[in-house]
Amino acid sequence: MYCSEKTLALMEELTQLIGISGQERHVCRALASRYACLADDVIRDYNGSVYAVKRSKSASPFRVMVSAHSDEVGLIVRQIRPNGLIKGRVIGGLWEDILPGARVRLLTDEGREFRGCVSTLAQKAMKERLGKEKVPLDMVYLDFGFISDEDARANGVLEGCQIVVDGPFQVLNGGRRLLSKAWDDRFGCILGIELLENLRDTELPFDLYVGANVQEEVGLRGARTAAELVRPDLAVVLDCTAASDTEQFTPPFGGIGQGVMVRYADGTYLPNRTMLLDYVSLLKKNGIPFQFHESKGGTDAGCINSFSRGVPALTACICARNVHTGSMMIDAEDYVNCLRAVTAFITTLNSSKLEAYRSNNS
Ligand SMILES: [Zn+2]
Repeated sequence: MYCSEKTLALMEELTQLIGISGQERHVCRALASRYACLADDVIRDYNGSVYAVKRSKSASPFRVMVSAHSDEVGLIVRQIRPNGLIKGRVIGGLWEDILPGARVRLLTDEGREFRGCVSTLAQKAMKERLGKEKVPLDMVYLDFGFISDEDARANGVLEGCQIVVDGPFQVLNGGRRLLSKAWDDRFGCILGIELLENLRDTELPFDLYVGANVQEEVGLRGARTAAELVRPDLAVVLDCTAASDTEQFTPPFGGIGQGVMVRYADGTYLPNRTMLLDYVSLLKKNGIPFQFHESKGGTDAGCINSFSRGVPALTACICARNVHTGSMMIDAEDYVNCLRAVTAFITTLNSSKLEAYRSNNS
């Protein structure tokens, strides 16, 4: 086994929770209850971002923020039709082409869950009507078996209720590969918990804040208020990025099982080079496989990096196939290696390194 039974159980629990952007409460609560046993304190901002605080005994500790994001892409109820079918609005970068025929899960505000599917015109009928087989989103209906508008509403369904594409957690090939919905970014939420477990008996020269921001998938919104909550001096952002290895492995965009991602540029941030190179030498020293990587998109590092007078920020990502679908595939060794990398980075961090990173461009 590449991951322990305990880790696999935690992965199943957290990936299967439903929490689209703006409605992350079930994920935030699960994280808070885990943090309570592993940290000195649990703090939250008023949008729902939640952090464990591990305090230092040092007289004037600096602050290190390790962030995942709790939200996932999905849909919300936009309109309930007289026949009980539901029209949805996509939240975040859900890949709409995967919707026809997909299984979906709806969660009401009271926490009742309904299972269903996406219903559309049959493929042939779609072609006759539109001259193409591609299904436009306004002809996609979310079908939970309700027979009328009244039926849906009597069951607690309201405009704005959250829906995700189903994707059960499955261990493949003896544990080598892990398939689930929501690895982006429950991967980071899980890694944060195991990081706290790894550091339980380690005294650090800084206060460590490990947590998850809300609303990353809709434009890094939660990280802004979370940074205000923590006021970090340095940040490590844990996220899951898109692999591009289905045709052939084409660096620098990532292959699963090829090691942790070292992100040298993306659409929202350019890393602190001193910190990035320090991380690379640490990976080499510890024999941790890695791949250089760039992305058009961004992570919360892009937001936290611009907080206040600037925060040196590192992204510690792994890559997944089928990002933003219900069938995200990751490699278990990539997870284990990323946990090793972040644990090593945090345990060797000190104030002189922080000063070196802060002097990056001077
Ligand atoms: Zn993400």
